[in-house]
Amino acid sequence: MRDEPIAFIDLKAQQDRLRGPIEAAMARVLDHGQYIMGPEVAALEDQLAAFCGARHAITCANGTDALVLVLMAWGIGPGDAVFVPSFTFIATAEAAALVGATPVFVDVLPDTFNLDPASLDAAIDAAVQAGLTPRAVIPVDLFGQPADHPAIAAIAAAHGLLVLDDAAQGFGGALNDRAVGTFGHATATSFFPAKPLGCYGDGGAVFTDDDALAETLRSLRVHGKGGDKYDNVRIGQNSRLDTLQAAILIEKLAVFADEIVARQRVADRYAAALGTVTRTPVVTPGARSAWAQYTLVVEDRAALVAGCRDAGVPTQVYYPIPLHRQSGYAQYPQAPGGCPVSDHLAGHVVSLPMHPYLSPAAQDRVIAAVRHAVARR
Ligand SMILES: *Cc1c(COP(=O)(O)O)cnc(C)c1O
Repeated sequence: MRDEPIAFIDLKAQQDRLRGPIEAAMARVLDHGQYIMGPEVAALEDQLAAFCGARHAITCANGTDALVLVLMAWGIGPGDAVFVPSFTFIATAEAAALVGATPVFVDVLPDTFNLDPASLDAAIDAAVQAGLTPRAVIPVDLFGQPADHPAIAAIAAAHGLLVLDDAAQGFGGALNDRAVGTFGHATATSFFPAKPLGCYGDGGAVFTDDDALAETLRSLRVHGKGGDKYDNVRIGQNSRLDTLQAAILIEKLAVFADEIVARQRVADRYAAALGTVTRTPVVTPGARSAWAQYTLVVEDRAALVAGCRDAGVPTQVYYPIPLHRQSGYAQYPQAPGGCPVSDHLAGHVVSLPMHPYLSPAAQDRVIAAVRHAVARR
């Protein structure tokens, strides 16, 4: 008898749990008919802000827009340097390029995969020498783990940089009892379905304690509106979160803290069973990961991927090409000495199935497949 296939991220299991409340929430939106900026949007924003302890949550159309809107609000553009890790999803650098600024690629740390403060420091000096104005840094909470926010904040303060945390994967995490969403001058997140907190389409949000920034963002997401929507005081965008998605997210947020605990249980089990045979994720002391991904670093990735595939265990490679090697981004500068850690990780990382509803039996199959593939070498 063939085993059930294992899902890499199982949205269906979550839906089974929440189907009733989500259908009821969607029906309420169909009844009131306020599909754009309906009451669920403001309700969700209040709940998101309360969840992480930020003063403001401003929702928008997707996580990429969340990054772009903040850079727009800060007036970042041509001639400005925005420092981004090279080992991340493309949107982190894309946001800087979209506003006309220069993304500067910074290397990451080999253990946490997050922005390397020393590489950032060196990249700032190099950017100044190249005639750019250092304006902002976008640390990423990659795979769910918070970046080294205290170290990055200190460097940013010394150089007058604004900090925009890219928490598309990290919302739900924490560092030293501070929730992700409260680091930096602003935080961007994504509600893409596969993110730790995902909706059933595209969505995003910005968190900030800065009242003036929050007001500008609320204007920018509706075509730069002023007092009313036909008074346009700045050039903005159309970037609102749909009311239906907000209604869905309210139901998902209600179980989100519980899901983070469930993800941690899976991570603990993986670490206990795999830590002796391969390199498992390193979690910074004092950090809570949102476990968007569970990512190994292996010598022979092809063998591991093939072994898992033979055992019916799906794997994914995030990310096979670091951003400084993307052909669309070849014109942008890198930290002095390049990004060798990002290069190495791109060749050796592999992510295992990770979601809150992964059963112990499925976890055991993943564990057995990985142990077998690693032992065969
Ligand atoms: C998913 C993601 C984004 C972009 O989010 P979208 O909602 O897909 O636009 C940005 N940064 C990182 C690190 C991501 O993983």
